[in-house]
Amino acid sequence: MALLLSLLLLFSIGVSQEAQLATPAVSSRAAEEALSASVKVETIRDVVTALSADDMQGRGTMQPGGDKAADYLADRFAKLGLKPLGEKGSFFQPIKFRETQFLPETSFKAGKETLELGRDFVVTPPFNGDKNVSGDLVFIAYGLISSTPRRNDLANIDVRGKMVVLLEGPPKVVSKKDWKDAKVQIDILRSLVLLGAAGLIFVNTGTDEHPYSEMADYLTRRQIERADKEEMPSFLPPFVTLSNEAAAKLFTNSGSTFAEALAKAELEGFKPFSLKKSATITVKLKKAKGTSNNVVALLEGSDPKLKAEALVYSAHYDAFGVSADKRIYHGAADNGLGVGEMIAVAEAFSQAATRPRRSIIFLAVTGEEYGGYGSDFWVKNPTWKIKQVAADLNFDGMGTEVYGPVKTLVGYGAEHSTLGTLLESVANAQGLTVITDPMPEEKSFYRSDHYFFVKKGVPGLMILGAPGGPVSEWTKRLKEWEKTDYHQPTDTIRPEWDWQGPRTLAMLSAVMGMRLANNEQMPSWLPNSPFNRERGTSEPPPPEP
Ligand SMILES: [Zn+2]
Repeated sequence: MALLLSLLLLFSIGVSQEAQLATPAVSSRAAEEALSASVKVETIRDVVTALSADDMQGRGTMQPGGDKAADYLADRFAKLGLKPLGEKGSFFQPIKFRETQFLPETSFKAGKETLELGRDFVVTPPFNGDKNVSGDLVFIAYGLISSTPRRNDLANIDVRGKMVVLLEGPPKVVSKKDWKDAKVQIDILRSLVLLGAAGLIFVNTGTDEHPYSEMADYLTRRQIERADKEEMPSFLPPFVTLSNEAAAKLFTNSGSTFAEALAKAELEGFKPFSLKKSATITVKLKKAKGTSNNVVALLEGSDPKLKAEALVYSAHYDAFGVSADKRIYHGAADNGLGVGEMIAVAEAFSQAATRPRRSIIFLAVTGEEYGGYGSDFWVKNPTWKIKQVAADLNFDGMGTEVYGPVKTLVGYGAEHSTLGTLLESVANAQGLTVITDPMPEEKSFYRSDHYFFVKKGVPGLMILGAPGGPVSEWTKRLKEWEKTDYHQPTDTIRPEWDWQGPRTLAMLSAVMGMRLANNEQMPSWLPNSPFNRERGTSEPPPPEP
Protein backbone atom coordinates (compact mmCIF):
# COMPACT_ATOMS: atom_id res chain seq x y z
CA MET A 1 0.00 0.00 0.00
CA ALA A 2 2.66 2.47 1.10
CA LEU A 3 4.99 1.42 -1.68
CA LEU A 4 2.28 1.74 -4.21
CA LEU A 5 1.48 5.18 -2.88
CA SER A 6 5.06 6.39 -3.14
CA LEU A 7 5.39 4.98 -6.61
CA LEU A 8 2.26 6.80 -7.56
CA LEU A 9 3.61 9.95 -5.95
CA LEU A 10 6.89 9.64 -7.82
CA PHE A 11 5.05 9.02 -11.01
CA SER A 12 2.80 12.03 -10.57
CA ILE A 13 5.74 14.26 -9.62
CA GLY A 14 7.54 13.03 -12.70
CA VAL A 15 4.61 13.84 -14.90
CA SER A 16 4.11 17.27 -13.47
CA GLN A 17 7.81 18.12 -13.74
CA GLU A 18 7.74 17.05 -17.31
CA ALA A 19 4.70 19.21 -17.92
CA GLN A 20 6.37 22.17 -16.28
CA LEU A 21 9.47 21.72 -18.37
CA ALA A 22 7.48 21.25 -21.52
CA THR A 23 5.40 24.40 -21.09
CA PRO A 24 7.94 27.08 -21.96
CA ALA A 25 9.01 25.08 -25.00
CA VAL A 26 5.46 25.13 -26.39
CA SER A 27 5.39 27.67 -29.17
CA SER A 28 2.71 30.29 -28.92
CA ARG A 29 1.36 29.00 -32.21
CA ALA A 30 0.88 25.56 -30.68
CA ALA A 31 -0.66 27.09 -27.57
CA GLU A 32 -3.08 29.03 -29.75
CA GLU A 33 -3.99 25.90 -31.63
CA ALA A 34 -4.54 24.00 -28.39
CA LEU A 35 -6.70 26.81 -27.01
CA SER A 36 -8.77 26.98 -30.16
CA ALA A 37 -9.15 23.20 -30.32
CA SER A 38 -10.55 23.21 -26.79
CA VAL A 39 -13.43 25.55 -27.70
CA LYS A 40 -16.39 23.18 -27.46
CA VAL A 41 -19.37 23.35 -29.73
CA GLU A 42 -21.39 21.42 -27.09
CA THR A 43 -20.84 24.22 -24.60
CA ILE A 44 -22.17 26.82 -27.01
CA ARG A 45 -25.20 24.68 -27.79
CA ASP A 46 -25.87 23.93 -24.11
CA VAL A 47 -25.72 27.58 -23.09
CA VAL A 48 -27.93 28.80 -25.94
CA THR A 49 -30.41 26.00 -25.27
CA ALA A 50 -30.56 26.79 -21.55
CA LEU A 51 -30.80 30.57 -21.98
CA SER A 52 -33.47 30.48 -24.67
CA ALA A 53 -35.63 27.87 -22.92
CA ASP A 54 -39.13 28.86 -21.78
CA ASP A 55 -38.18 28.70 -18.11
CA MET A 56 -35.70 31.56 -18.58
CA GLN A 57 -38.71 33.73 -19.55
CA GLY A 58 -36.74 35.77 -22.08
CA ARG A 59 -34.16 36.91 -19.48
CA GLY A 60 -35.94 40.21 -19.00
CA THR A 61 -34.17 43.06 -17.24
CA MET A 62 -35.85 43.52 -13.84
CA GLN A 63 -37.76 40.23 -14.23
CA PRO A 64 -37.32 36.87 -12.44
CA GLY A 65 -36.20 35.24 -15.71
CA GLY A 66 -33.30 37.70 -15.88
CA ASP A 67 -32.26 36.76 -12.34
CA LYS A 68 -32.48 33.09 -13.18
CA ALA A 69 -30.20 33.59 -16.18
CA ALA A 70 -27.73 35.57 -14.03
CA ASP A 71 -27.65 32.72 -11.48
CA TYR A 72 -27.09 30.21 -14.26
CA LEU A 73 -24.15 32.20 -15.64
CA ALA A 74 -22.59 32.75 -12.21
CA ASP A 75 -22.84 29.01 -11.65
CA ARG A 76 -21.12 28.28 -14.97
CA PHE A 77 -18.34 30.74 -14.16
CA ALA A 78 -17.88 29.18 -10.72
CA LYS A 79 -17.68 25.67 -12.20
CA LEU A 80 -14.88 26.85 -14.49
CA GLY A 81 -12.95 27.96 -11.42
CA LEU A 82 -13.20 31.64 -12.33
CA LYS A 83 -13.08 34.21 -9.55
CA PRO A 84 -16.05 36.45 -8.77
CA LEU A 85 -15.50 40.04 -9.87
CA GLY A 86 -18.83 41.61 -8.97
CA GLU A 87 -19.76 43.32 -5.72
CA LYS A 88 -19.09 41.98 -2.22
CA GLY A 89 -17.11 38.99 -3.40
CA SER A 90 -19.93 37.78 -5.65
CA PHE A 91 -20.26 37.41 -9.41
CA PHE A 92 -23.05 40.01 -9.41
CA GLN A 93 -22.94 43.73 -10.01
CA PRO A 94 -26.46 45.00 -9.25
CA ILE A 95 -27.97 47.89 -11.19
CA LYS A 96 -31.15 49.69 -10.22
CA PHE A 97 -33.79 50.08 -12.88
CA ARG A 98 -37.20 51.64 -13.35
CA GLU A 99 -39.93 49.96 -15.39
CA THR A 100 -42.84 51.71 -17.08
CA GLN A 101 -45.85 49.98 -18.57
CA PHE A 102 -48.96 51.40 -20.19
CA LEU A 103 -52.21 50.53 -18.53
CA PRO A 104 -55.23 49.71 -20.74
CA GLU A 105 -56.86 53.04 -19.78
CA THR A 106 -54.33 54.76 -22.06
CA SER A 107 -56.46 56.15 -24.88
CA PHE A 108 -56.77 58.60 -27.76
CA LYS A 109 -60.14 59.93 -28.89
CA ALA A 110 -60.51 62.28 -31.85
CA GLY A 111 -63.98 63.50 -32.84
CA LYS A 112 -66.07 60.36 -32.83
CA GLU A 113 -63.11 58.03 -33.35
CA THR A 114 -61.50 55.98 -30.60
CA LEU A 115 -57.99 54.92 -31.58
CA GLU A 116 -56.33 51.72 -30.41
CA LEU A 117 -53.03 51.79 -28.53
CA GLY A 118 -50.29 50.16 -30.58
CA ARG A 119 -52.23 49.70 -33.79
CA ASP A 120 -53.30 53.34 -34.24
CA PHE A 121 -51.16 55.33 -31.83
CA VAL A 122 -48.28 55.07 -29.43
CA VAL A 123 -47.11 57.29 -26.63
CA THR A 124 -43.47 58.22 -27.16
CA PRO A 125 -40.90 59.15 -24.51
CA PRO A 126 -40.63 60.91 -22.16
CA PHE A 127 -42.98 58.78 -20.05
CA ASN A 128 -43.28 61.39 -17.35
CA GLY A 129 -46.50 60.61 -15.59
CA ASP A 130 -50.21 60.19 -16.16
CA LYS A 131 -51.95 62.62 -18.51
CA ASN A 132 -55.45 63.57 -19.41
CA VAL A 133 -55.61 66.44 -21.88
CA SER A 134 -58.11 67.71 -24.44
CA GLY A 135 -58.05 70.40 -27.10
CA ASP A 136 -58.85 71.36 -30.66
CA LEU A 137 -56.73 69.69 -33.34
CA VAL A 138 -54.56 71.95 -35.53
CA PHE A 139 -52.13 70.95 -38.28
CA ILE A 140 -48.91 72.98 -38.28
CA ALA A 141 -46.81 70.98 -40.83
CA TYR A 142 -43.26 71.06 -39.38
CA GLY A 143 -43.91 73.87 -36.91
CA LEU A 144 -40.95 75.62 -38.55
CA ILE A 145 -40.33 79.35 -38.54
CA SER A 146 -37.37 80.26 -40.76
CA SER A 147 -36.13 82.61 -43.49
CA THR A 148 -34.58 79.87 -45.68
CA PRO A 149 -36.77 78.10 -46.52
CA ARG A 150 -39.19 80.95 -46.06
CA ARG A 151 -41.76 79.54 -43.68
CA ASN A 152 -43.96 80.46 -40.77
CA ASP A 153 -45.84 77.28 -39.89
CA LEU A 154 -47.38 79.01 -36.86
CA ALA A 155 -48.67 82.08 -38.75
CA ASN A 156 -51.82 83.53 -37.17
CA ILE A 157 -52.34 80.63 -34.85
CA ASP A 158 -52.20 80.30 -31.08
CA VAL A 159 -51.20 76.77 -30.15
CA ARG A 160 -51.99 77.29 -26.45
CA GLY A 161 -54.30 74.51 -25.28
CA LYS A 162 -54.34 72.96 -28.76
CA MET A 163 -53.62 69.40 -29.83
CA VAL A 164 -50.89 70.10 -32.33
CA VAL A 165 -50.58 67.70 -35.27
CA LEU A 166 -47.13 67.92 -36.84
CA LEU A 167 -44.51 66.27 -39.00
CA GLU A 168 -41.06 65.33 -37.93
CA GLY A 169 -38.57 67.32 -40.00
CA PRO A 170 -36.84 68.16 -42.13
CA PRO A 171 -39.06 69.42 -44.96
CA LYS A 172 -37.90 67.97 -48.30
CA VAL A 173 -35.95 71.14 -49.25
CA VAL A 174 -33.73 70.93 -46.14
CA SER A 175 -30.97 68.31 -45.80
CA LYS A 176 -31.16 65.88 -42.90
CA LYS A 177 -27.63 66.83 -41.90
CA ASP A 178 -28.35 70.57 -41.73
CA TRP A 179 -31.53 69.86 -39.78
CA LYS A 180 -29.70 67.67 -37.30
CA ASP A 181 -26.61 69.89 -36.98
CA ALA A 182 -28.72 72.98 -36.24
CA LYS A 183 -30.81 70.98 -33.72
CA VAL A 184 -33.96 72.40 -35.31
CA GLN A 185 -36.27 69.60 -34.17
CA ILE A 186 -35.53 70.07 -30.50
CA ASP A 187 -35.99 73.86 -30.85
CA ILE A 188 -39.40 73.36 -32.43
CA LEU A 189 -40.53 70.97 -29.70
CA ARG A 190 -39.24 73.28 -26.99
CA SER A 191 -41.06 76.28 -28.41
CA LEU A 192 -44.33 74.34 -28.80
CA VAL A 193 -44.09 73.30 -25.15
CA LEU A 194 -43.33 76.87 -24.07
CA LEU A 195 -46.24 78.18 -26.16
CA GLY A 196 -48.53 75.88 -24.18
CA ALA A 197 -49.53 73.16 -26.67
CA ALA A 198 -51.74 70.60 -24.88
CA GLY A 199 -50.46 67.61 -26.84
CA LEU A 200 -47.96 66.90 -29.63
CA ILE A 201 -49.19 64.43 -32.23
CA PHE A 202 -46.72 63.21 -34.85
CA VAL A 203 -48.01 61.93 -38.16
CA ASN A 204 -46.40 60.42 -41.28
CA THR A 205 -43.56 58.81 -39.32
CA GLY A 206 -41.55 55.73 -40.15
CA THR A 207 -39.51 54.72 -43.17
CA ASP A 208 -39.55 51.66 -45.44
CA GLU A 209 -36.72 50.22 -43.34
CA HIS A 210 -38.29 51.12 -40.01
CA PRO A 211 -42.05 51.48 -40.43
CA TYR A 212 -44.49 52.83 -37.87
CA SER A 213 -45.48 49.25 -36.94
CA GLU A 214 -41.93 48.51 -35.77
CA MET A 215 -41.79 51.60 -33.57
CA ALA A 216 -45.26 50.80 -32.23
CA ASP A 217 -44.15 47.29 -31.32
CA TYR A 218 -41.25 48.59 -29.22
CA LEU A 219 -43.10 51.49 -27.65
CA THR A 220 -45.96 49.37 -26.38
CA ARG A 221 -43.58 46.98 -24.60
CA ARG A 222 -42.58 47.60 -21.02
CA GLN A 223 -39.90 50.30 -20.93
CA ILE A 224 -36.76 50.06 -18.84
CA GLU A 225 -34.62 52.97 -17.70
CA ARG A 226 -31.87 53.38 -15.16
CA ALA A 227 -33.52 54.21 -11.82
CA ASP A 228 -31.18 57.14 -11.27
CA LYS A 229 -32.09 58.76 -14.58
CA GLU A 230 -33.79 62.06 -13.89
CA GLU A 231 -37.44 62.05 -14.89
CA MET A 232 -38.60 64.71 -17.31
CA PRO A 233 -40.76 67.42 -15.71
CA SER A 234 -44.37 66.34 -15.44
CA PHE A 235 -45.73 69.57 -16.97
CA LEU A 236 -44.62 68.40 -20.42
CA PRO A 237 -47.55 67.61 -22.72
CA PRO A 238 -47.96 64.04 -23.96
CA PHE A 239 -46.08 63.12 -27.15
CA VAL A 240 -48.00 60.73 -29.37
CA THR A 241 -47.31 59.14 -32.76
CA LEU A 242 -50.05 57.97 -35.12
CA SER A 243 -50.16 55.36 -37.86
CA ASN A 244 -50.95 56.77 -41.31
CA GLU A 245 -54.38 55.12 -41.24
CA ALA A 246 -55.19 56.81 -37.93
CA ALA A 247 -53.76 60.13 -39.15
CA ALA A 248 -56.07 60.01 -42.18
CA LYS A 249 -59.04 59.84 -39.78
CA LEU A 250 -57.98 63.07 -38.08
CA PHE A 251 -58.21 64.91 -41.41
CA THR A 252 -61.71 63.77 -42.43
CA ASN A 253 -64.07 66.74 -42.88
CA SER A 254 -61.22 69.19 -42.26
CA GLY A 255 -61.23 70.47 -45.86
CA SER A 256 -57.97 68.66 -46.63
CA THR A 257 -57.28 64.97 -46.88
CA PHE A 258 -54.17 63.67 -45.11
CA ALA A 259 -52.40 63.31 -48.49
CA GLU A 260 -53.29 66.88 -49.46
CA ALA A 261 -52.09 68.14 -46.08
CA LEU A 262 -48.75 66.39 -46.58
CA ALA A 263 -48.37 68.01 -50.00
CA LYS A 264 -49.23 71.47 -48.62
CA ALA A 265 -46.72 70.97 -45.81
CA GLU A 266 -43.88 71.05 -48.34
CA LEU A 267 -44.85 74.47 -49.75
CA GLU A 268 -43.17 77.68 -48.59
CA GLY A 269 -46.49 79.43 -48.24
CA PHE A 270 -47.90 76.75 -45.92
CA LYS A 271 -50.58 78.01 -43.52
CA PRO A 272 -51.59 76.08 -40.41
CA PHE A 273 -55.22 75.01 -40.26
CA SER A 274 -57.81 73.58 -37.90
CA LEU A 275 -58.92 69.95 -38.29
CA LYS A 276 -62.36 71.06 -37.04
CA LYS A 277 -62.54 68.56 -34.23
CA SER A 278 -61.11 68.07 -30.78
CA ALA A 279 -59.18 65.21 -29.25
CA THR A 280 -58.53 63.76 -25.81
CA ILE A 281 -55.37 61.91 -24.82
CA THR A 282 -55.25 59.85 -21.64
CA VAL A 283 -52.03 58.24 -20.48
CA LYS A 284 -52.03 55.86 -17.53
CA LEU A 285 -48.72 54.38 -16.48
CA LYS A 286 -47.70 51.66 -14.07
CA LYS A 287 -44.23 52.24 -12.70
CA ALA A 288 -42.03 49.91 -10.70
CA LYS A 289 -38.47 49.83 -9.42
CA GLY A 290 -36.13 46.87 -9.28
CA THR A 291 -32.66 45.47 -9.82
CA SER A 292 -30.85 43.42 -12.43
CA ASN A 293 -27.26 42.20 -12.36
CA ASN A 294 -24.21 42.20 -14.54
CA VAL A 295 -22.41 38.89 -14.03
CA VAL A 296 -18.62 39.33 -13.86
CA ALA A 297 -15.87 36.72 -13.61
CA LEU A 298 -12.08 36.87 -13.59
CA LEU A 299 -9.32 34.61 -14.83
CA GLU A 300 -6.18 35.91 -13.17
CA GLY A 301 -3.16 36.42 -15.42
CA SER A 302 0.15 34.65 -14.86
CA ASP A 303 2.59 37.53 -15.31
CA PRO A 304 3.39 39.28 -12.01
CA LYS A 305 3.26 42.70 -13.68
CA LEU A 306 0.91 42.31 -16.64
CA LYS A 307 -1.79 40.57 -14.61
CA ALA A 308 -2.83 43.97 -13.30
CA GLU A 309 -4.12 44.63 -16.81
CA ALA A 310 -7.15 42.83 -18.16
CA LEU A 311 -8.83 42.02 -21.40
CA VAL A 312 -12.64 42.03 -21.25
CA TYR A 313 -14.92 39.68 -23.15
CA SER A 314 -18.49 40.95 -23.06
CA ALA A 315 -21.89 39.62 -24.14
CA HIS A 316 -25.35 40.74 -23.11
CA TYR A 317 -27.50 38.00 -21.64
CA ASP A 318 -30.76 39.94 -21.50
CA ALA A 319 -33.53 39.68 -24.06
CA PHE A 320 -36.95 41.38 -23.87
CA GLY A 321 -38.27 39.10 -21.16
CA VAL A 322 -41.92 38.22 -20.92
CA SER A 323 -44.66 40.63 -21.93
CA ALA A 324 -47.82 41.50 -20.00
CA ASP A 325 -49.71 39.11 -22.31
CA LYS A 326 -47.19 36.34 -21.45
CA ARG A 327 -45.23 36.19 -24.68
CA ILE A 328 -41.63 35.08 -24.10
CA TYR A 329 -38.87 36.82 -26.04
CA HIS A 330 -36.46 33.88 -26.25
CA GLY A 331 -33.48 35.77 -27.65
CA ALA A 332 -31.69 32.66 -28.95
CA ALA A 333 -29.66 34.33 -31.69
CA ASP A 334 -29.66 37.72 -29.95
CA ASN A 335 -27.88 37.06 -27.74
CA GLY A 336 -27.95 33.51 -26.44
CA LEU A 337 -25.37 32.75 -29.13
CA GLY A 338 -23.04 35.53 -28.02
CA VAL A 339 -23.17 34.39 -24.40
CA GLY A 340 -22.63 30.77 -25.46
CA GLU A 341 -19.57 31.81 -27.46
CA MET A 342 -18.20 33.78 -24.51
CA ILE A 343 -18.70 30.87 -22.09
CA ALA A 344 -16.96 28.53 -24.54
CA VAL A 345 -14.01 30.94 -24.66
CA ALA A 346 -13.98 31.16 -20.85
CA GLU A 347 -13.98 27.37 -20.63
CA ALA A 348 -11.09 27.04 -23.10
CA PHE A 349 -8.96 29.60 -21.22
CA SER A 350 -9.73 28.16 -17.81
CA GLN A 351 -8.65 24.69 -18.92
CA ALA A 352 -5.56 25.73 -20.92
CA ALA A 353 -2.16 24.39 -19.90
CA THR A 354 -0.73 27.89 -19.67
CA ARG A 355 -2.44 30.91 -18.30
CA PRO A 356 -2.36 34.11 -20.30
CA ARG A 357 -0.06 36.82 -18.94
CA ARG A 358 -2.75 39.46 -18.56
CA SER A 359 -5.94 38.81 -16.66
CA ILE A 360 -9.18 38.15 -18.50
CA ILE A 361 -12.61 39.39 -17.45
CA PHE A 362 -15.82 37.75 -18.63
CA LEU A 363 -18.66 40.24 -18.43
CA ALA A 364 -22.24 39.12 -19.08
CA VAL A 365 -24.28 42.31 -19.05
CA THR A 366 -27.94 43.07 -18.47
CA GLY A 367 -30.14 45.85 -19.87
CA GLU A 368 -28.47 45.97 -23.29
CA GLU A 369 -31.69 45.90 -25.27
CA TYR A 370 -32.92 49.11 -23.66
CA GLY A 371 -29.74 51.09 -24.38
CA GLY A 372 -26.60 49.26 -23.28
CA TYR A 373 -27.28 49.98 -19.61
CA GLY A 374 -25.22 47.10 -18.21
CA SER A 375 -22.02 47.91 -20.07
CA ASP A 376 -22.50 51.64 -19.59
CA PHE A 377 -22.81 51.00 -15.85
CA TRP A 378 -19.74 48.75 -15.77
CA VAL A 379 -17.43 51.18 -17.60
CA LYS A 380 -18.59 53.96 -15.26
CA ASN A 381 -18.44 51.77 -12.14
CA PRO A 382 -15.77 49.31 -13.24
CA THR A 383 -14.85 46.39 -11.01
CA TRP A 384 -11.35 46.63 -12.51
CA LYS A 385 -9.25 49.78 -12.99
CA ILE A 386 -10.50 51.14 -16.28
CA LYS A 387 -7.05 52.49 -17.19
CA GLN A 388 -5.86 48.89 -17.04
CA VAL A 389 -8.54 47.45 -19.27
CA ALA A 390 -6.67 46.49 -22.41
CA ALA A 391 -9.64 46.02 -24.74
CA ASP A 392 -13.18 44.75 -25.06
CA LEU A 393 -14.06 41.91 -27.40
CA ASN A 394 -17.85 41.86 -27.60
CA PHE A 395 -20.16 39.07 -28.71
CA ASP A 396 -23.49 40.26 -29.99
CA GLY A 397 -25.30 39.78 -33.19
CA MET A 398 -28.17 38.50 -35.14
CA GLY A 399 -27.15 34.91 -35.65
CA THR A 400 -25.45 35.18 -39.05
CA GLU A 401 -22.78 32.79 -37.75
CA VAL A 402 -25.25 29.87 -37.84
CA TYR A 403 -25.99 30.27 -41.56
CA GLY A 404 -23.23 27.80 -42.44
CA PRO A 405 -19.49 27.37 -41.93
CA VAL A 406 -18.14 30.83 -41.05
CA LYS A 407 -15.83 32.14 -43.79
CA THR A 408 -16.48 35.88 -43.69
CA LEU A 409 -16.02 38.35 -40.85
CA VAL A 410 -16.94 41.96 -40.21
CA GLY A 411 -15.11 43.76 -37.42
CA TYR A 412 -17.18 46.59 -35.99
CA GLY A 413 -14.65 49.07 -34.67
CA ALA A 414 -11.74 47.49 -36.58
CA GLU A 415 -10.89 50.76 -38.33
CA HIS A 416 -10.26 52.59 -35.06
CA SER A 417 -7.58 50.60 -33.25
CA THR A 418 -4.87 47.99 -33.57
CA LEU A 419 -7.61 45.41 -32.85
CA GLY A 420 -8.33 45.71 -36.59
CA THR A 421 -4.88 44.51 -37.65
CA LEU A 422 -4.99 41.79 -35.02
CA LEU A 423 -8.35 40.59 -36.34
CA GLU A 424 -6.99 40.61 -39.87
CA SER A 425 -3.94 38.53 -39.01
CA VAL A 426 -5.74 35.95 -36.86
CA ALA A 427 -8.55 35.66 -39.42
CA ASN A 428 -6.19 35.21 -42.36
CA ALA A 429 -4.25 32.50 -40.55
CA GLN A 430 -7.54 30.64 -40.12
CA GLY A 431 -8.53 31.09 -43.76
CA LEU A 432 -11.24 33.63 -42.94
CA THR A 433 -11.82 36.84 -44.88
CA VAL A 434 -12.48 40.17 -43.19
CA ILE A 435 -14.73 42.43 -45.24
CA THR A 436 -15.92 46.00 -44.68
CA ASP A 437 -19.40 46.44 -43.19
CA PRO A 438 -21.90 45.55 -45.94
CA MET A 439 -24.76 47.17 -43.97
CA PRO A 440 -23.43 50.54 -42.79
CA GLU A 441 -27.02 51.85 -42.62
CA GLU A 442 -27.58 49.60 -39.58
CA LYS A 443 -24.90 51.52 -37.62
CA SER A 444 -24.07 48.33 -35.75
CA PHE A 445 -20.87 49.81 -34.34
CA TYR A 446 -22.95 52.18 -32.21
CA ARG A 447 -25.48 49.57 -31.14
CA SER A 448 -23.85 47.18 -28.75
CA ASP A 449 -21.76 46.87 -25.62
CA HIS A 450 -18.27 47.39 -27.08
CA TYR A 451 -19.31 50.96 -27.94
CA PHE A 452 -19.56 51.88 -24.25
CA PHE A 453 -15.94 50.81 -23.81
CA VAL A 454 -14.96 52.74 -26.93
CA LYS A 455 -16.59 55.89 -25.53
CA LYS A 456 -14.54 55.41 -22.36
CA GLY A 457 -11.29 55.28 -24.32
CA VAL A 458 -10.95 51.47 -24.29
CA PRO A 459 -10.45 49.92 -27.75
CA GLY A 460 -13.40 47.66 -28.53
CA LEU A 461 -14.44 45.30 -31.26
CA MET A 462 -17.53 43.29 -32.15
CA ILE A 463 -17.08 40.56 -34.74
CA LEU A 464 -19.82 39.33 -37.02
CA GLY A 465 -19.34 35.89 -38.55
CA ALA A 466 -21.01 34.92 -41.80
CA PRO A 467 -20.75 32.21 -44.44
CA GLY A 468 -18.71 32.38 -47.66
CA GLY A 469 -20.24 32.99 -51.08
CA PRO A 470 -21.93 36.18 -52.23
CA VAL A 471 -22.40 38.68 -49.38
CA SER A 472 -25.80 39.63 -50.78
CA GLU A 473 -27.07 36.11 -50.06
CA TRP A 474 -26.57 36.19 -46.31
CA THR A 475 -27.41 39.87 -45.92
CA LYS A 476 -30.71 39.12 -47.68
CA ARG A 477 -31.38 36.27 -45.26
CA LEU A 478 -30.50 38.55 -42.36
CA LYS A 479 -32.83 41.33 -43.57
CA GLU A 480 -35.66 38.80 -43.80
CA TRP A 481 -34.91 37.53 -40.30
CA GLU A 482 -34.86 41.09 -38.98
CA LYS A 483 -38.40 41.56 -40.26
CA THR A 484 -39.78 38.33 -38.82
CA ASP A 485 -37.79 37.26 -35.75
CA TYR A 486 -35.35 39.92 -34.58
CA HIS A 487 -36.34 41.11 -31.09
CA GLN A 488 -39.48 38.98 -31.40
CA PRO A 489 -40.71 35.96 -29.39
CA THR A 490 -39.80 33.85 -32.45
CA ASP A 491 -36.03 34.35 -32.06
CA THR A 492 -35.56 30.69 -31.17
CA ILE A 493 -33.08 27.91 -32.00
CA ARG A 494 -33.77 26.40 -35.43
CA PRO A 495 -32.99 22.87 -36.60
CA GLU A 496 -31.11 24.19 -39.64
CA TRP A 497 -28.55 26.10 -37.55
CA ASP A 498 -24.94 25.19 -38.26
CA TRP A 499 -23.37 25.11 -34.78
CA GLN A 500 -19.82 24.97 -36.17
CA GLY A 501 -20.24 28.61 -37.22
CA PRO A 502 -20.43 29.99 -33.66
CA ARG A 503 -17.57 27.69 -32.73
CA THR A 504 -15.39 29.24 -35.45
CA LEU A 505 -16.23 32.69 -34.12
CA ALA A 506 -15.40 31.67 -30.55
CA MET A 507 -12.11 30.06 -31.65
CA LEU A 508 -11.07 33.20 -33.49
CA SER A 509 -11.96 35.36 -30.48
CA ALA A 510 -10.05 33.05 -28.15
CA VAL A 511 -6.88 33.34 -30.23
CA MET A 512 -7.26 37.11 -30.48
CA GLY A 513 -7.72 37.20 -26.72
CA MET A 514 -4.63 35.12 -26.13
CA ARG A 515 -2.51 37.50 -28.18
CA LEU A 516 -4.04 40.52 -26.48
CA ALA A 517 -3.34 38.96 -23.10
CA ASN A 518 0.23 37.98 -23.92
CA ASN A 519 1.51 40.90 -26.01
CA GLU A 520 3.94 43.21 -24.26
CA GLN A 521 1.79 46.26 -25.07
CA MET A 522 -1.93 46.83 -24.68
CA PRO A 523 -3.69 47.54 -28.00
CA SER A 524 -3.87 51.19 -29.00
CA TRP A 525 -6.09 53.57 -30.91
CA LEU A 526 -5.06 54.50 -34.42
CA PRO A 527 -3.75 58.07 -34.19
CA ASN A 528 -6.44 59.62 -36.38
CA SER A 529 -9.43 57.77 -34.95
CA PRO A 530 -11.95 60.17 -33.38
CA PHE A 531 -12.01 57.74 -30.44
CA ASN A 532 -8.28 58.06 -29.84
CA ARG A 533 -8.59 59.13 -26.21
CA GLU A 534 -7.09 58.01 -22.94
CA ARG A 535 -8.59 54.97 -21.20
CA GLY A 536 -11.08 56.17 -18.60
CA THR A 537 -11.66 59.51 -20.31
CA SER A 538 -14.65 61.52 -19.18
CA GLU A 539 -14.57 63.78 -22.24
CA PRO A 540 -17.78 63.58 -24.28
CA PRO A 541 -17.44 61.17 -27.21
CA PRO A 542 -17.48 62.37 -30.82
CA PRO A 543 -21.05 62.82 -32.09
CA GLU A 544 -22.73 59.79 -33.65
CA PRO A 545 -23.43 60.06 -37.37
ZN1 LIG B 1 -28.10 41.93 -28.98
